[in-house]
Amino acid sequence: MDTYGEVVIEDLHIAAMKPSMGRRTFRRSVSDAALGMFRPQVAYKMAKMGTFLVVADRWYPSSQIHHRCGCYLIAPTKMAKALVCSATSELVDRDANAAKNLRDWPD
Ligand SMILES: [Zn+2]
Repeated sequence: MDTYGEVVIEDLHIAAMKPSMGRRTFRRSVSDAALGMFRPQVAYKMAKMGTFLVVADRWYPSSQIHHRCGCYLIAPTKMAKALVCSATSELVDRDANAAKNLRDWPD
């Protein structure tokens, strides 16, 4: 973190996401990861490093908007890792696309 001037994270509503996460064991592992503690710890460490923390809006669909063209991506299944561009049918990695959207989050 000491090499970045700014870090953008998403304000996710974990409790509301759980019912749509599918497999019970997966939901439990998300709970066990104590994601609620992630943000305070990141904020604390970044303040010490003098790095700026940006929290993206909870309702921003970072994994649904195509970073390259701005279309809404099509998900073949609910938990699909590869989404489809609705303009060009290009396959898009869900996580990499979301990361690029957050990187370019206007603050
Ligand atoms: Zn697209």
